[in-house]
This record gives sequence, C-alpha cells and structure tokens, in this order.
Amino acid sequence: MKDDNFLREMNARHLWHPMGHPGEQQEHAPTIIKSADGVEITDIDGHRVVDAVGGLWCTNLGYSNDAIKQAISDQLWQLPYYSAFAGTTNPPAIEASYAVQEFFAEDGMARVFFTSGGSDAVDTALRMARQYHRLRGEPTRTKFLSLKKGYHGTHWGGASVNGNNRFRITYEPLLPGCFHLPSPYTYRNPFHETDPARLAEKIAAAMVDEIEFQDPSTIAAFIMEPIQGAGGVIVPDASFMKHMREICDRYGILLISDEVICGFGRTGDWSGARHWGVQPDMMTVAKGITSAYFPVGGVLLSEMVAEVFENADAGGAIWTGYTYSAHPVGAAAVVACLSETLRLDTKTNAAARGTQLYDGVRQLMEKYDIIGDVRGGHGLMTGIELVSDRAAKTAMDATTVKRVHKATYEAGAMVRIGGNNLLMSPPLIITEAEIDRVLSALDAGFAAA
Ligand code: PMP
Repeated sequence: MKDDNFLREMNARHLWHPMGHPGEQQEHAPTIIKSADGVEITDIDGHRVVDAVGGLWCTNLGYSNDAIKQAISDQLWQLPYYSAFAGTTNPPAIEASYAVQEFFAEDGMARVFFTSGGSDAVDTALRMARQYHRLRGEPTRTKFLSLKKGYHGTHWGGASVNGNNRFRITYEPLLPGCFHLPSPYTYRNPFHETDPARLAEKIAAAMVDEIEFQDPSTIAAFIMEPIQGAGGVIVPDASFMKHMREICDRYGILLISDEVICGFGRTGDWSGARHWGVQPDMMTVAKGITSAYFPVGGVLLSEMVAEVFENADAGGAIWTGYTYSAHPVGAAAVVACLSETLRLDTKTNAAARGTQLYDGVRQLMEKYDIIGDVRGGHGLMTGIELVSDRAAKTAMDATTVKRVHKATYEAGAMVRIGGNNLLMSPPLIITEAEIDRVLSALDAGFAAA
C-alpha cells in the first residue's frame, strides 16, 4: 500500500467523486476510509467512528459478515463470471432469484430481473412499465408520476423522476412526460399543512387532478419511496401510500415502490410497502440485497405484471439488461446476505434501535435550537433538519452544517449531509450502546455549531 500522502495527492489529482466538485478536492480533501469492522470505520489518520450512515444506507449487516465474504470468495473460485443474457444462466443467479422472490412473496412479488445497482433497477422498471402497457394494447401510457424530494438514482429515467432539482437541472432536458407531485413533507409544503393525514389527502387530491389533466390513458406508472431517504428522511402518514395505491388502481397506473433504501428491514419491516400495508406492482431494490458487499440491484414484478410479458408475442422480449445482470458472484452474495438478514432478524433490531435513535435526537432538539425538525421513528432512518431560525424555519447555511458534521465525526460518528439535513441510516445490526455513542457524538457536533 502506498503511503498516506501519496494517496491524498493522487486522489486530488486523478479521482473524480460522485456528487462532488472535482475542483474542490485540493482544499477539502475527502476522508480516506481504509478499514472497517462491525459497525465501525477507520480512516487513514486513525479515527475510528461508528458508521451512522451505513456506507450509503447500504451496509445493513455491517462490515464483518463472514458468511457473505465466504460466499463471495467461494463463488470467485467456482465461476467468477458468466452472462445471464438469454441463452445462459448460472446456479447462484437461480438460487438468488428464488431467495429474493421468497423474501418479497408477502408483497406479491413473483419475478426478479437483476441489475448492477439501484439506478439500473429504476431505469429498467420504468422501461418495463411502458412495455407492460404497450403489450396490453395501451401504447399511449408512457408518462410517469413521482414525488418531489424523491430520489431514484441518476440514470436518465431516474433523474427524470427525481424530485430534487440539484440532480436534474445540470442535465436537462430529461425524459419528457414526467410530472412531480408535492412530497408528504409536513415541515414544509405548498399547502402549509402540518397535519400528516390531511397532507396525505391533499397530495392525493393533487395527484387525481394531475392525472385528469394529463389524461389517465397517457400515464404508465407512479414511482415512490415508502419513506423518502436522500430527500431528507421524509416519513409520510400511514395513510399516504394506501391513497397512492387506490388512485393507481382507479386509473390503471402501475405503482412502483422504490425500495432501494427501505427494502430488507430498514423501516422495521422487510419492505417499506409492507410497512404501510400496501402491495405494489413492481419494486426496485439494491443496497441491502447484498449489504453492499457486491453491487447488485433488481426489479421485482407481481404475477399480474409478469404474466403480461410471459403470455405476449415477440413484443414481450426484454431488450434491456446489463453485462453484470445476475452476475454469479453478486448472486452468491445475495443468497448469503438474505439468509443472514433473516437469521439475524434485522428488521426487529432496526425497529427498536430506530426508535432509540429518533427519541434520542428529539431530546437533543430541546437542547439545541438549530434543530428545526427531526424525522424518523420508523426503523433505522433518521433525518435532522438544521435551521438558523427555528420560528422562521430558515435553512442552516452550508458552512455551519459542515462544521456540525465534522465535529460529530471527530466525536465518534459518521453522519451524512443532505442539503441542510443530517441523515442517518446505520447498519441494522447496530447495538443499543453504539446508538448511544452516535447520540453523544451528535451532541458534541451540535455544540460546535
Ligand atoms: N433509488 C433510491 C431510493 C435510492 O436511495 C438510490 C441510491 N441512494 C437509488 C435509487 C440509486 O441507487 P444506486 O446508487 O445503486 O444506483
């Protein structure tokens, strides 16, 4: 391994980072994480902290799961790669398809199409939604509805349905025919509605209005995260997704639940849709499917959707896919990860530790005025919105947010910045004592504001 200064210098010179400014790296060198153990990460300066972000909402089983590591290693020696494009397949891919389908059977999911990550999954799901309607004789259904503040990856399809303009404006024009409804964000919304159930009703009415305006026969699908993650951990009312399901049914629109973050236990249930008591028509998954030990994503389809493809003529062929779709090493990681996820019953710990984290941050809110809003309490996703004036809800400036973030890190916890929010999604195996460490690090972080 090269020495630390070499690493810093080469990073600044050659490595462009996602979601970062390539010119800023000389002044603001990124933290170089060199090792990890359990739920802790260690940087090259020797700081060892609790990873309260779980990588990027993805290292659900932490960093030391031997079963997944062994499965990956064994598969590398058995068969490191073979394509799953029509004509060939491989044993781990078949096993993984069974494991994934079983995992989401209660959500009504019957088939899986593997991808290399979440953005691929979203893009594929949008394509499949159009194809589904075309096969059913409704080729005019090409438009998509989504929510503001939603995050659905950065491919053209996902960026087009993304609800945060930061990910859109630079790359416009995006896909035509994508329309965005207000987010179920009680703290700030165009209706000035603070009651979550009434806000849900207002967004449902806005959705009906938009569908009627566009003409229902032009709309293919509505995509949403059961709890919006990157947009700031926005937890809707328990009625919200049910309203969306009912409207989609009324107008023949497919409901795609983007479970890239919420799936595999993060919400305290095995899927976010299940958490809200809804069965979607399709689901997109990634992250927790391998706990990030290998890049894998997938699109899941209900029997109703799948049958339309399977019973169709040549038009049912799927003309999309990735070299690494159903990659045998990734598939072996999926099989091991899902078995470990079930064995450890991570959803139960996520619910308990999520409540502990949420309650702890709410207590800190009494101590620090810069906390404007705390969102979470449904599993291990927590968002803290920082403000410079609580009454006026003025978003905190980026410099102060960065200072809080840095001080929190120095006090022992890695959290994530999302605009004026601090976001947390620790590994689902985190212990009570480790959550306490995150809370005391946050306390120190806010004190430094
Ligand atoms: N959908 C959601 C809900 C996500 O949170 C993400 C990633 N954070 C994506 C899609 C995109 O996944 P990926 O980064 O693996 O492409």
